[in-house]
Amino acid sequence: MPTINETITQEIRAKAKELLESKEVAAFLGFCQGSLPMTTRPFVARSPEEADKLVWNSFCVLNPANYLPELLKSLEPPRGPRDPAPEGPLPKAALLATGCWSRNIAIQIKENQLDRDRVVIVGIASRGMVDQRKIRARFPDQEILKVEEQDHKLKVSGQNFEEEINRWDMVRGNCLTCLHPDPVMLDVRIGAAGQERKNDTPFQQVDEIKNKSTDERWQWFQDEFASCIRCYACRNACPLCYCDTCFVDDSKPQWVGKSIDPVDTGLFHILRAYHCAGRCTDCGACESVCPMDINMRILTKKLSMDVLALYGSEAGMDPEAPLPLSTYKTDDPQDFILSESGAAKEGI
Ligand code: SF4
Ligand code: SF4
Ligand code: SF4
Repeated sequence: MPTINETITQEIRAKAKELLESKEVAAFLGFCQGSLPMTTRPFVARSPEEADKLVWNSFCVLNPANYLPELLKSLEPPRGPRDPAPEGPLPKAALLATGCWSRNIAIQIKENQLDRDRVVIVGIASRGMVDQRKIRARFPDQEILKVEEQDHKLKVSGQNFEEEINRWDMVRGNCLTCLHPDPVMLDVRIGAAGQERKNDTPFQQVDEIKNKSTDERWQWFQDEFASCIRCYACRNACPLCYCDTCFVDDSKPQWVGKSIDPVDTGLFHILRAYHCAGRCTDCGACESVCPMDINMRILTKKLSMDVLALYGSEAGMDPEAPLPLSTYKTDDPQDFILSESGAAKEGI
């Protein structure tokens, strides 16, 4: 009997073929098998034949929304910077979207990075993706050559070993605390709809650090980011980081040094987290791609917790709602802003 993910894979391939054959879309963005065990990579099928390469499994950890704007651009007819925009409707692309990925798509639309009319959202309720770091930690001295999936178990094997482990012990931290596995917006559904989840402590991972003393928190921060090599894989995997020039690459002015000095590294992570405040959907792509196994997602999770407390807003949950940190009213309270008159009043 096929597993849940094998059934979903077949459904994805069938839907991709149908959409490509009918020319409703010019491209279908999903995943294909990676070259190493426990990996997949983003894959664009551009013909019905290529749809057979699409896969769905517990290692689909990258966020397809990250690649969608560039994919749509690539489908447009080539033109110079001064050429007029092409007339008529432009080609569409389809992409896979779980709960968090669909929320990123909603944010990209809200931030004018995407034209909703050019996107066919193929929704899948997420069962949670598996963290290969947890599997590697379970077999510290062995080289893992293969991981076979069943619905609730993973069969891990290497040169001289083979062991079945519980899949649910290996699920990523972000997926464990996810409350919204079902897409918030979709055009086509694959598989069964997902239920909203209940969790009384969705920010437990943050609380564990927040409840430490100031000195302990500072120590945690220094220890956590000490091994960062500034490769920017976390930034590059994030669908929120689409700036033409990132602040870390700016030289006039240079906002932050480019070394791996702890101050430079810490500043990069704190500033990037603030850029994602109110926008991060906790998809976990940043953490999944880090070659140094750094848990930088905890920073964005803390800011999501604050935005929920201050604005009652969860990123991308309501595609129609205004974005909490880029929307203002002229009579918004602004006591926290140090104005000239306020400073004079305070005697500063
Ligand atoms: S870190 Fe900030 S400046 Fe850099 S790409 Fe992301 S949002 Fe843009
Ligand atoms: S900051 Fe990380 S968890 Fe948040 S949306 Fe970007 S990649 Fe996903
Ligand atoms: S992916 Fe990891 S090592 Fe690379 S910049 Fe991000 S935190 Fe640092």
